[in-house]
Amino acid sequence: MKGRLVKLRSRFDATGIEGFLVTNPENRYYLSGFTGTSGFLLVTSRESVLVIDGRYTEQARAECPEVDVVEAKRPWPDGVIGVVRETGLQSLGVESGHLSYARWQELVNGLDGTVLVPVRNLVEELRMVKEPGEIALIREAVRLVDAVFADYLPGLRAGIREREWALELEFALRRRGAERAAFDFIVASGWRSALPHGVATEKVIQPGELVVIDCGGVLQRYCADFTRTVVAGAAAGWQEEVYRAVLAAQEAAIAAVRPGVAAGEVDRVARTVLAEYGYAGAFVHSTGHGLGLAVHEEPRLAEGVEAILEPGMVVTVEPGVYLPGRGGVRIEDVVVVTDHGAEVLTATPKDVLPVVG
Ligand code: ZN
Ligand code: ZN
Repeated sequence: MKGRLVKLRSRFDATGIEGFLVTNPENRYYLSGFTGTSGFLLVTSRESVLVIDGRYTEQARAECPEVDVVEAKRPWPDGVIGVVRETGLQSLGVESGHLSYARWQELVNGLDGTVLVPVRNLVEELRMVKEPGEIALIREAVRLVDAVFADYLPGLRAGIREREWALELEFALRRRGAERAAFDFIVASGWRSALPHGVATEKVIQPGELVVIDCGGVLQRYCADFTRTVVAGAAAGWQEEVYRAVLAAQEAAIAAVRPGVAAGEVDRVARTVLAEYGYAGAFVHSTGHGLGLAVHEEPRLAEGVEAILEPGMVVTVEPGVYLPGRGGVRIEDVVVVTDHGAEVLTATPKDVLPVVG
């Protein structure tokens, strides 16, 4: 944690701030180790103070030995304003991507001597490059979803409801150690597989339908994110053709992941391959995203993103093709940027469109 605070402070001058108020829960955990669900972290050049209410005092002292813990009756806004006033800060950065307008106004009203500076992604940019311990946790989370998917895939068949199977998957992930699902699982069959974000419903899977499964658990606070597409019964020619195109795009994009490459370049590679197969208009989202404490992090592998990939970044690569009314295919792996290229963490096979019962 100490190293992370040092890195954050080293960016204060360039950002034009003397202190930074952390309100985003993942950023708060990343910098302090505090796992409670409510609290405010103030980082200045000399100190870091966590303001919490009485429910968390003992927990915060145990979890955050490097941070001063201040208990307040009303942590927001009174406790935070009191601590900022004591520090005499001239300028305070706040997380503009997270702080609500109502809270911004409360700070403005409570702090006359301090200029508030909206800042975006200051901690998120630190989080982009993972430490070895973080990569180990993501590796474990991905290993878990690989194992559960392999065990439960035989149970996926025509005649069952999307939600029934999604629930089994989630239960198995949690029983084997995941704290929770990383997001609402997508099990999208038939025409619904053409919805890129088709969260599992009561729909019954029919023979001959494509099924897109997008799932993952959170293990020791780090997320897995995994997608495979299967077909129930037997595959039609067009389904295999779409699958081949998506797989080619995904493999080409993974091959493009290495240090020094712009995130947008990986997206361009996937898009170019799909265009060659005639599916340029059917790929309606970006190619991938960073993964860590949150399921969607920086950097985004999206059109025009100039962020440069560095060793230690963890991203998903997940192109898809969606044909409205017919169906869709997406394949998603988790990839670590290494010193010279990339390592794919996801181990579930993807070379052919799997046929299930
Ligand atoms: Zn996903
Ligand atoms: Zn994803």
